Amino acid sequence: MAAISMKNIVKLYGDGFPAVNEVSLDVRDGEFMILVGPSGCGKSTLLRMIVGLEDITSGEMRIGERVVNKIAPRARNLSMVFQNYALYPHLTVFENIAFPLRLAKVPGDEVQRRVTETAELLELTEHLERKPAHLSGGQRQRVAMGRAIVRQADAFLFDEPLSNLDAKLRGQMRTEISRLQRRLGVTTVYVTHDQTEAMTLGDRVAVLRRGVLQQVGSPRELYEEP
Ligand code: ADP
Ligand code: ADP
Repeated sequence: MAAISMKNIVKLYGDGFPAVNEVSLDVRDGEFMILVGPSGCGKSTLLRMIVGLEDITSGEMRIGERVVNKIAPRARNLSMVFQNYALYPHLTVFENIAFPLRLAKVPGDEVQRRVTETAELLELTEHLERKPAHLSGGQRQRVAMGRAIVRQADAFLFDEPLSNLDAKLRGQMRTEISRLQRRLGVTTVYVTHDQTEAMTLGDRVAVLRRGVLQQVGSPRELYEEP
């Protein structure tokens, strides 16, 4: 049973040609799947349909055994990381990470436990009482990741999370994301137009072009000479 299963997914905006055209793709439980392709190929649209931020024109989207076409984003238990990861400047690192748990009214002792665990995983323990302004760019990005993973979602969805970072930080965060995903073993779909990320981060890569799924395979199958 795939963790995320897409069958003949179509997205039409207005009367243009389909942004996503008959895409069928299974993301396995615990798998790190990269969605790659040039700008405008439909990557974000597909990701947004998984999360529920965009209606599906036709086709079937399943998360686990459940068909989620008509299920609201909040009820899908997924966690999405965007490229513009705004932290709350007046809140400490602890409260920034705790934020989704506070919204969900998780009891205080459990918030304490989960934020502490998450901070350890991301090596943020000694920064928990700081405000974002006193952190480096890399630390801020890790806080944003912490906020995304603290909820223990069924899957993580990343929409070009590193595209606004400089090259050095991007390299560090690539390592960080891949280490974290392997440690947590959570099903992940990661959208990028960056070949390096596509070649190094995922278990498998799905290549989209003009809304059509062109290839799916391991980075080795797709990028290495035979
Ligand atoms: P990518 O993420 O690969 O850059 P998108 O999913 O953003 O691609 O866009 C795929 C196609 O759908 C593009 O042709 C884009 O112009 C179109 N599109 C995206 N969002 C909208 C929208 N809200 N309304 C109309 N067309 C859209
Ligand atoms: P503090 O409690 O640090 O003084 P505030 O009084 O401004 O901060 O925040 C009140 C509540 O609103 C807190 O629970 C905080 O988590 C939440 N909050 C803070 N900033 C935002 C924001 N930008 N959007 C939504 N909620 C926020």
